[in-house]
Amino acid sequence: MNSKVLQWIRPEVRGQTAYHVTESSDVIKLDAMENPYTWPDPLITKWLELIRGAPINRYPDPAARKLKGRLRESMEIDSSADVILGNGSDELIQMVIMAVAKSGCVVMAPEPTFVMYKIISTWAAMNYVGIPLNSDFSLDLGAMLSAIRKLQPAVVFLAYPNNPTGNLFPRTEVQQIIETAPGLVVIDEAYHAFAGSSFMDEIGRYDNLLVMRTVSKMGLAGLRLGYMAGLPQWISEIDKLRLPYNISVITQLTVDFALEHREILDKQAQAIKAERENIYKTLEQLQGVTVFPTHTNFILFRVAKGRADGIFKGLLENGVLIKNMSPAGGLLQDCLRATIGTPQENATFLKALKAII
Ligand SMILES: *Cc1c(COP(=O)(O)O)cnc(C)c1O
Repeated sequence: MNSKVLQWIRPEVRGQTAYHVTESSDVIKLDAMENPYTWPDPLITKWLELIRGAPINRYPDPAARKLKGRLRESMEIDSSADVILGNGSDELIQMVIMAVAKSGCVVMAPEPTFVMYKIISTWAAMNYVGIPLNSDFSLDLGAMLSAIRKLQPAVVFLAYPNNPTGNLFPRTEVQQIIETAPGLVVIDEAYHAFAGSSFMDEIGRYDNLLVMRTVSKMGLAGLRLGYMAGLPQWISEIDKLRLPYNISVITQLTVDFALEHREILDKQAQAIKAERENIYKTLEQLQGVTVFPTHTNFILFRVAKGRADGIFKGLLENGVLIKNMSPAGGLLQDCLRATIGTPQENATFLKALKAII
């Protein structure tokens, strides 16, 4: 390697590999938890009218006041809370970690979980500690609480429900973690639209709770908008690390418009949940397949030992892209994760899967 690169780029950066996204033209895309549905034509026409008048020669409102107002009302944000917006919740994770980054400081999460907690902690030279889940993907509460007491993490991330496992940790266990943690606890509710449980209304009860969500999984992944609610004293500090104008004019207008027509997104979520039950039941009956309960828009399942790679490739040859979790190893050995698609997409996926198995 170029010696100047070696000299100047930090070792923890050189040691990482860039976030990998599988190329996916002409396939049924069930790998990234996207909502498969688009909008009805009349709504698209109305949206284009709005965009026609968008002042793209101007910087966006840095405080995104209109959109925040809409989120408050549409997403039942606790009145004791302030809100901060990110270019996807990924950017919010980055802001939280930057705000606490001190050498030797710990970021903690159960494992396996959403990979960005660890990746961004590494960027910030923080000490990331993953506490293994039990083999059924439930929290090892004892291990979690004693690690929190011992390591005094600056932040604990809990994906609620968890990705890639799909399960919702018991509320009382999450509450014990919030009460035991000396620092911040970020409850990541990316799958809120499918979960039926939230900590949004508990923000005022604790002095260390942040609740983060995204519009990505509810059907607006292309816009990149995450939002995080918390007590004003936390949000005002984290807001200092936000790049000015981080939410584009088009994103602000479009998310506001979409939430004005929230019933369409809700209907899509309903359809996804109904399909989720169908897929669960079908997978449950397949020979050699163990399927895990899910409160999200994806399903994790385990196949017979050593077969995950072959099944993943076989599906791809049949034009269906899911996510092979097996290379991550550990509890995810032999596991595959499929996003819920349209009924036709799901039927194609299940037919191909049955044939391969
Ligand atoms: C998808 C996902 C995110 C990232 O969402 P963006 O808003 O698209 O950046 C965050 N957390 C979890 C648990 C996710 O699964």
